[in-house]
Amino acid sequence: MQHKSIILITLLAFSTGIFAQVEIKTDTTLTTEKQCMDSISVIKNTILSIEYLPAAHFYTDEWRNEHTRSAYIFRKDTTYILPLNNDKTGSFVFPCDGKVCSSYGLRSGRMHTGMDIKQNHGDPIVAAWNGVVRMARMAYYGYGGIVVIRHDNGLETVYAHLSRVSVLPNQEVKAGELIGKAGRTGRASTEHLHFETRFLYECFNPKTIIDFDTYQLTTDTLIVVNGKFYAKEDYDNNKNQVDEIPVSSDILNDTLNINDTTDDSISIVKSKPIVPQKENTPPPTTYKPKYHIVKQGDTLYKIAKKYSTTVNKLCEINRIKENDILSLNQKIKLP
Ligand SMILES: [Zn+2]
Repeated sequence: MQHKSIILITLLAFSTGIFAQVEIKTDTTLTTEKQCMDSISVIKNTILSIEYLPAAHFYTDEWRNEHTRSAYIFRKDTTYILPLNNDKTGSFVFPCDGKVCSSYGLRSGRMHTGMDIKQNHGDPIVAAWNGVVRMARMAYYGYGGIVVIRHDNGLETVYAHLSRVSVLPNQEVKAGELIGKAGRTGRASTEHLHFETRFLYECFNPKTIIDFDTYQLTTDTLIVVNGKFYAKEDYDNNKNQVDEIPVSSDILNDTLNINDTTDDSISIVKSKPIVPQKENTPPPTTYKPKYHIVKQGDTLYKIAKKYSTTVNKLCEINRIKENDILSLNQKIKLP
């Protein structure tokens, strides 16, 4: 009898513990911010899908599963600073074993938009970072079996010529998780993985950030300036050269900057373009956040105070009520 009670108590404690951690997952069919915001009034106290659509602040278009690119939103007049290794993206994992058999760049007069890595049929292919599968389908034009994953830092990774796709669209994946098997589907004459890195649907050379001999990242920050992609260290070393690229000084640009080292806020600020500067200063990092990500201990009152606004204003633009309980990592729009 005593034995039974102990089990019962243990079970109770266990289930209470689990209950406390229950996190209601999002409905991945919610695609637009408007839909998400509308749902806030319906489902209270849950982390909503906008939190589960990675880099929603970068991708202003609709989340779609059909194509590798559905809009052109990459802006050459905007500077982006993208972390490659943080809590949200997880630690980078090279997607497969194997040697490079063809590099990014012009190939027989055509642009080859990724790196090809030799594979055997059925070799496992894994996700490079944590993220959400945006696209997963077979027989997609020359790509054949393809998986596209969007990551929290705004990057998308593309895995093609797969013989098998092991994930579903809108599925959350972790770095290193199996997403498919290598093959030669689509336009491929040998078994290989075609691997692409993209930002806002714009392809860039994966060698910018990945060492294909050691399978490691070469940097923890990707900088995009004037439409070109640099590892932070390369950007710093070649800054004078980079600065020689003419910048139209009369344009006022948006500078988007994710910086999660000191604050969880995501910043979207207006600033002048990076103008040639001779001193070795990093790109501008001063910003006024447009969102606040809810942390432990946050209240609407605290957030309002921090950003010099009012609880009423926050409630109004976030369509929430003063007494609503905030969820961890909830994105609060700021005025
Ligand atoms: Zn290829």
